[in-house]
Amino acid sequence: MKRAVSALWARRAVRQAYLYTPTAATATSSSPEFGASTSEAWDGRFRLHKPRGQHLLTNPRVLDAIARHAAISPGDAVLEVGPGTGNLTARLLASQAARVTAVEIDPRMVEAVTARAAALGLAHKFKVIAGDAVEVEFPEFDVCVANIPYGISSPLIAKLLFGPYRFRTATLLLQKEFARRLVAAPGDGEYNRLAANVRLVADVRLLMDVSKRDFVPMPRVDSSLVEIRPRGTVPGVDVSEWLAFTRVCFGQKNKTLAAIFKQKRMVVELLRRSLRTERCAGGVSLGPLEVDDSGEDDCGGNDDGSNRVVGFSEEEVAAFKEKVAGALDTAELAGKRPSKVSNDELKRLLRLFNDRGVRFQ
Ligand code: SAH
Repeated sequence: MKRAVSALWARRAVRQAYLYTPTAATATSSSPEFGASTSEAWDGRFRLHKPRGQHLLTNPRVLDAIARHAAISPGDAVLEVGPGTGNLTARLLASQAARVTAVEIDPRMVEAVTARAAALGLAHKFKVIAGDAVEVEFPEFDVCVANIPYGISSPLIAKLLFGPYRFRTATLLLQKEFARRLVAAPGDGEYNRLAANVRLVADVRLLMDVSKRDFVPMPRVDSSLVEIRPRGTVPGVDVSEWLAFTRVCFGQKNKTLAAIFKQKRMVVELLRRSLRTERCAGGVSLGPLEVDDSGEDDCGGNDDGSNRVVGFSEEEVAAFKEKVAGALDTAELAGKRPSKVSNDELKRLLRLFNDRGVRFQ
């Protein structure tokens, strides 16, 4: 059924196709070694969908540079996200990689890139998974290389770094502003939750900027190539607790940590989470608890719903508020804004919270 719908969508898209005529700025010479008639210059076979981020990279020099920066070693398994018509794929296939797997959402592109690999005589080391890169399970890979649709940059990076995958590097072409935020340090104007989370588990560096003129059709923004290198182990922090913690801190990143954590709504929510965490872990008995209005209890407690938490006495809330304030004072971070605090300081604060029974998950 799903397949039929995709095929219908693809046929309709082809019917509506217009011929894209390259302008002087976007026309590029093709590199015959990467597929003669199926070269990187866009021939307007079908309509490109901007909402799907379909901006093909057509400058051979930039494509070559990305493949070089990817530093593929002999025998590597390469993962590419959003191969499009295969301009980058052709270079990855021509590298020393043992195999290249691409994940592509558009059936027309799946067909195009499959044909491209065949035309290059490299189909034996190529596989394409038709689907949404955010949803599908990736095969094992050593390096990820991609000019990705910018709309999925955040969820894709989160999936790569916080999913079950072990890989050496991800070399990604990203929207320039997004790339600047990703490599930002605490105190920089662009520093945000994503940067803090990525820094926890990986080293990130900017490799080069790429002009919007190198794409067809031309997007509104320039791009930057970024290398993300996972560090392997993350000492001294529970990653899911960290992710929940930074969500709270950076939710209001222009307030001081004291202002964020003294809000009654926040204190009550943390108290609720902390009690639930203790209960899920088989901790202390909490006595009767009221039903919360979300109707959800993700640790799967009693059938009668008696383990749901929502209302607390003023005393309970006040005592918990003291614990929260105590952790902030001990960390000497009360007056600081989250976007100016290093990950080491945030890690220490999280430990102080957890030691006092304040949980974020
Ligand atoms: N890498 C190619 C194409 C880039 S355009 C090049 O550099 O020329 C982005 C590609 O990603 C398109 O082919 C688009 O169909 C695909 N795409 C968009 N959203 C996707 C998703 N969620 N999962 C996988 N592919 C996606």
